[in-house]
Amino acid sequence: MNAAALPFPSGLRRLSSWRRWSLWVLLGVLVLALLVTLVYLAARYEASVAQANVERDVTDALSDMRSALTRNVQELQALQSGHPVKQAWEREAERLLRRHREWVRIEARGPNLELIEEEDSPYRQPVFNQFDRVNTLPEVQQACLTARRLSSHAYARSHFVPQADGLGLELMELCLPEVEVGRLVGFLVATYSLSDLLAAQIGPQMGRSQEISFTEADGTRLAMHGLARRGARVFTAQQLLDLPGNTIVLRMDSWRRSEPDLFPNVLTALVTVMSIALVTVLFMLGHDTRRRLRVEQDLADALAFRKAMEDSLVTGLRARDLHGRTTYVNPAFCQMVGFSPEQLLGRGAPAPYWPPEFAEDYAKRQTVRFTAGRPPREGFESVFMREDGTRFPVLIIEAPLINATGLQTGWMSAVLDISEQRRVEELSRASQERLQATARLATVGEMASLLSHELNQPLAAIASYAHGSMNLLQHGPETAAGDLQVAMVRIAEQADRAGRVIKSVHDFVRRRDQAREAVPPQALVAAVLPLVNLQARKLGVRVEIRVPSGLPLVQCDRTMVEQVLLNLTRNAMQAMDESGVRHPALVVQVRATPVREAGHRWLEFSVADCGPGIPEGVKEQLFTPFFTTKTEGMGLGLSLCRTVVEQHGGHLLFEANPPQGTIFRFTLPAHID
Ligand code: ADP
Repeated sequence: MNAAALPFPSGLRRLSSWRRWSLWVLLGVLVLALLVTLVYLAARYEASVAQANVERDVTDALSDMRSALTRNVQELQALQSGHPVKQAWEREAERLLRRHREWVRIEARGPNLELIEEEDSPYRQPVFNQFDRVNTLPEVQQACLTARRLSSHAYARSHFVPQADGLGLELMELCLPEVEVGRLVGFLVATYSLSDLLAAQIGPQMGRSQEISFTEADGTRLAMHGLARRGARVFTAQQLLDLPGNTIVLRMDSWRRSEPDLFPNVLTALVTVMSIALVTVLFMLGHDTRRRLRVEQDLADALAFRKAMEDSLVTGLRARDLHGRTTYVNPAFCQMVGFSPEQLLGRGAPAPYWPPEFAEDYAKRQTVRFTAGRPPREGFESVFMREDGTRFPVLIIEAPLINATGLQTGWMSAVLDISEQRRVEELSRASQERLQATARLATVGEMASLLSHELNQPLAAIASYAHGSMNLLQHGPETAAGDLQVAMVRIAEQADRAGRVIKSVHDFVRRRDQAREAVPPQALVAAVLPLVNLQARKLGVRVEIRVPSGLPLVQCDRTMVEQVLLNLTRNAMQAMDESGVRHPALVVQVRATPVREAGHRWLEFSVADCGPGIPEGVKEQLFTPFFTTKTEGMGLGLSLCRTVVEQHGGHLLFEANPPQGTIFRFTLPAHID
């Protein structure tokens, strides 16, 4: 990842959301178009099936009709040839008429069409009773002329005959020529009722929603059968029934309720189910996409937040893969080392910010750290080099870089530039040292008066011994040899004593190396004891030292700790002196604290007095530098004491020492072998 990469710029996000929406709309329109097309095709298919059915039905009806007409002609021919006797003809004709409802009348006519025999259908009133048959003769003539010409049966054009009930019948004449030995002897004329023809021949096979009719070529309806259940949609098929002498159209209408039916067939049902499934899938997809969008938005926000955080950090961040190649740097890191991200990314050891003189060591250190696994949490110090070649100290804290699947992909380091911190530390250390030296000298200044008081005694003793010796010498040295020797020994003793006093001050003031070492607590107390005793004697204070044997060694800078002990004892004695306590006593005690953590032991030093205690107003400012209640005090003692103790990791506290006085306690770490 590049530090300069900006995730999801807002303009791009707007554009992509616009495009996503338009894609969704397009998809929706396409699906809708697909569904409409499917439904339309299904309806069309359904219509074509219905149409094909009607076509088939009309073809079947036509062929039925043809064969029925042919059979009828044959039956009529049988009547012609077989029954010349009048009664027999009438009987036979009546039998035929009973069998064939489609005929309304059968006539036998002579060669000039003169009527010889006639028989009407028993199923209806005679059709021609009221009207003169003459009116219909042209059709009969036409049929018989054609029959004569063809020497076979022939039909005439249909004609309408009104009936008494106000309705009428569409009739069609059939004429069969009667030929005997090559000579025309007469005609047999049968009159068809077209509507009865339809009912008799096709009616039984027809469905309830079908209607069959005879029409003329121009569509004029002649006769029909079947009262169809009307629907919204009609399917029509027609076929030509070409008869000798006449041609009529057989037409069939099939009605459907509505179009399209909701579930008219399996195909439509299937299409509907698939459409519902498709819409459901689309809906789920949309839902999923919306959720993804939300997550994407959250992720973009999180990334933007992370980016802002990284950019505002003053801590340098650097990520390296398992081979030590830099995979990420933040702006603070680039600023720290003065290299651009391009100069750093993808670079393995040696990194451009490694000082060349340490490069080898760093490479080794890196290998060791990477193979060791978990680096120390508190980090380690190192030195980096800026692009201009200047070196600067850094604190590096490393942690393993774990990816989303829990695998370690590298190392993440936080790098702190500690050059400024170092400079401040150096400054404070120097000023601290100066302050300590000053404080020590101030202590010495205070002690000058003690010294003069303490040295007074041996010096006065030496002076009086010297005077005595001189007197002895004047009165005769031979006799006073023994006394002189005693006096000299005394002088030497007193001079020794004065020398020890001076040495104790000198030892304390002499600057020693500052180093932590393991020191027995007894030694620390013993080192300050001569100076404590000096002051105690002057002020008449009883000093009690309680340092049990068997205590562990103290890990400390002994000069500093001696200074602390001296400051506390001096403060205690001064406080008792100022308040005029009757029997001033000072208790210096050392004890080991109970073991808290495995391997960590502490020693507690305490200095107790029976002075006036510390007033409330003074308590808050006690450790403030230069705070003092004494006219000649500097106010540095306690603040220095606390700094020293805290530098050792310990605490300096004070509390009341009932019934009267104060106890100052401080802790120091015990030495661990
Ligand atoms: P200084 O001794 O030069 O005044 P310190 O920092 O050592 O400076 O002490 C600050 C002040 O704390 C003293 O002036 C004194 O008022 C008070 N103080 C210190 N030790 C004691 C004590 N044992 N009893 C009462 N007051 C004390």
